Amino acid sequence: MQEAPIKDILIANTSAALRPFIAMMDFVSATNCWCGGVLEYWTPEFELYLQCASCGCKSVRFRPTDESLGRFYSSAYWYEYQQVHKCPTVDERFEGDMLDRIPHYMNWLMGLYPPPCKVIEIGCGNGRLLFELKQAGYDCTGVEMDERLAALVTKKTGVPVHHGSFPASNDPVYDLIVIIDVLEHAPGQIDFVRNVSSRLSSTGKVLVHCPVLDTLEASVQFRYMFNPLSHLWIHNSASFNNLWLEAGLTAIKAGELFNMPVYAISRQ
Ligand SMILES: [Zn+2]
Repeated sequence: MQEAPIKDILIANTSAALRPFIAMMDFVSATNCWCGGVLEYWTPEFELYLQCASCGCKSVRFRPTDESLGRFYSSAYWYEYQQVHKCPTVDERFEGDMLDRIPHYMNWLMGLYPPPCKVIEIGCGNGRLLFELKQAGYDCTGVEMDERLAALVTKKTGVPVHHGSFPASNDPVYDLIVIIDVLEHAPGQIDFVRNVSSRLSSTGKVLVHCPVLDTLEASVQFRYMFNPLSHLWIHNSASFNNLWLEAGLTAIKAGELFNMPVYAISRQ
């Protein structure tokens, strides 16, 4: 079981809604960034995050064990945590996403690699983007950590959504890999981008949208987004670009949505 002090610090710096999750998870103190750099104190605004002395990327101060993360992303996550936070249901999100983000993502993806081609979305959530991509002529696959959600979205959209993490051992290569609100949750950042690179066709493109923040002011403005139990990294522009270079890939800013950059990534 976890030693007391870490959980005491987590409880003192998070909302009451997270306490049941803290109780069921185990954590270890983080010492190094994904880049190998030493983690040091960042700012009193973020007691649960540290800053890398080398690349400036932020890391959670206490990293959940892999087993704990698995529990966190089990079906209880969507159905209990989201209820606690009064989040929209999967069906509500399926409709609501069409009103803001989906048309923008569609425009970027159609421009990056027009159909027909093979596309996979890692962490596809309610599946609306895959549903729209399928209508547009793409050959679509999804991956989702939540088993119940994967089954529900497969049934609702007709797109095969696999339960688990990416890649499955029998995954082919894809021409488009879509990663929205996912990278910041991956414990092993270098493993994650190398796995993506291993399944990207020679001319393939990756679309990534995640929080990338270059100033303390911007970080404070978006502080509400960072759940320190699952939001493990906060990149800046330089650390984001450096990470993808570790996988032989180049990131170029393609646009912006919800005040966060959207990146197009390729082998060039
Ligand atoms: Zn670093």
